[in-house]
Amino acid sequence: ETVNVCSFMSKIYEKMLPAFQIKKIRLIHHCDTDLEINIDLKRFEQVMLNLLDNALKHSEEGTTVLFEVIQEEKHTKIIISDEGIGIPKEDLPYIFDRLYRVDKSRSRTGGGTGLGLAIVKEIIEAHRGTITAESVLGKGTRMIITLVTS
Ligand code: ATP
Ligand code: MG
Repeated sequence: ETVNVCSFMSKIYEKMLPAFQIKKIRLIHHCDTDLEINIDLKRFEQVMLNLLDNALKHSEEGTTVLFEVIQEEKHTKIIISDEGIGIPKEDLPYIFDRLYRVDKSRSRTGGGTGLGLAIVKEIIEAHRGTITAESVLGKGTRMIITLVTS
């Protein structure tokens, strides 16, 4: 379907806000474009909820999670940044692999399956996009989705 990217992001924000409030983590979103994108709504929502859930799970009270839409000439970037525990450099190349988890002991109680980011990557690639991760251990993580929009 074709949707306005900013109204789509607002809906994601509304959905995730309560979980962030409970954990006392600030959730901020920035989107300033009238861009309409053609996406599989359900699946793209799954992507955003997955990434924000990861950011939430790996962040401490009092920190901020930001997601923003940046409109470039031919691309649209969606960036999700957190100030959480980060991902060790040696694990970073594998986090999009199926069932890969950095450390079972640090994962959510009642745990995820480790499928999250593999599915995220599949969906993004089905939209002819890419996803990359940047992270500094102890400082935070940034997930960057790039979509071709012209
Ligand atoms: P987890 O509960 O450990 O997040 P998951 O089932 O959600 O498991 P994925 O979402 O695929 O698995 O994440 C893969 C690995 O990358 C996990 O080991 C997780 O700890 C790490 N990871 C993902 N996002 C972040 C983040 N924002 N900050 C720190 N680590 C992250
Ligand atoms: Mg996850």
